[in-house]
Amino acid sequence: MKIIVFVKQVPDSAASVAVEDGKVTWGDAPLVINPWDEYAVEAALALTEAHGGDVVAISMGSEDAKEALKHSLAMGCAEAILINDPAFAGADSAAAARILAAAAQKVGDADLVIFGKQAIDSDTGVSAAMTARVLGWPAITLVAAIDALDADAKTIQAQRAMEEGRQVVSSKLPAVLSIVKDYGEPRYPSFMGIRKASKAEIPMWSAADLGITAPEAVVSWPEIMSPPAREIANEIIEGGSPEEIAATLADKIMAEKVL
Ligand SMILES: Cc1cc2nc3c(=O)[nH]c(=O)nc-3n(C[C@H](O)[C@H](O)[C@H](O)COP(=O)(O)OP(=O)(O)OC[C@H]3O[C@@H](n4cnc5c(N)ncnc54)[C@H](O)[C@@H]3O)c2cc1C
Repeated sequence: MKIIVFVKQVPDSAASVAVEDGKVTWGDAPLVINPWDEYAVEAALALTEAHGGDVVAISMGSEDAKEALKHSLAMGCAEAILINDPAFAGADSAAAARILAAAAQKVGDADLVIFGKQAIDSDTGVSAAMTARVLGWPAITLVAAIDALDADAKTIQAQRAMEEGRQVVSSKLPAVLSIVKDYGEPRYPSFMGIRKASKAEIPMWSAADLGITAPEAVVSWPEIMSPPAREIANEIIEGGSPEEIAATLADKIMAEKVL
């Protein structure tokens, strides 16, 4: 089997986000692989361990995104590719989907293309479905478990995580999946994997390499605002027994119509 997993490089989730001049900034916070994408890599690796084959990790971004790819190689992916072209800057989700689909087609013969649930920086959560649409493949989103896969018959059965429970879904391959964290803890990169990743040459694919011109972005995000600060007044109820303090608190809660 050949599985492609898309991984994005994002600011560390512990970083504090600020908005300056209508632009989001994470300061000099370290960049890491999108946490959801580690689950996607785990699913891809587990499937090839069970059914044979290799995993190719692909990221679109600046050269910084090589770190996410190296993390994927260290976890066990066989190959990593960076999509990098100044013409792709400002791609909206639809444009990004066309670019990612072109990369999947260039790799060729993939049985599965796997995404994380969403990217924690821009959070549109639509890349898997949109890429499936461009490829013309079925999409199974929010996958929490893969119950069965028949590489010869080219079929897959998966469980989707719904708020009210699990939904069992079957599909033909090739297909696009997005993975949620119920899938199971991602493995840690091995020592050997880290060594291999540190020496790996990561090829870069431009628009010309993909045989496309940069798709036009229709959606723009001209301004980003912090939510207005809420006014909060604190009051400490002092004096009296615990019962009296509780009664005063209850009166205040009722007066404020909190209950
Ligand atoms: C502040 C801001 C706001 C934005 N708002 C919009 C908007 O409203 N509408 C719109 O169309 N676009 C928007 N974009 C652009 C959008 O973020 C990019 O097109 C992005 O590539 C796809 O969306 P996402 O990062 O939200 O990914 P999601 O769809 O949330 O990510 C899902 C999965 O897709 C994969 N993936 C996503 N991006 C990449 C990548 N570059 N390389 C490899 N794998 C990837 C990962 O597996 C990830 O887990 C916005 C960008 C910014 C910076």
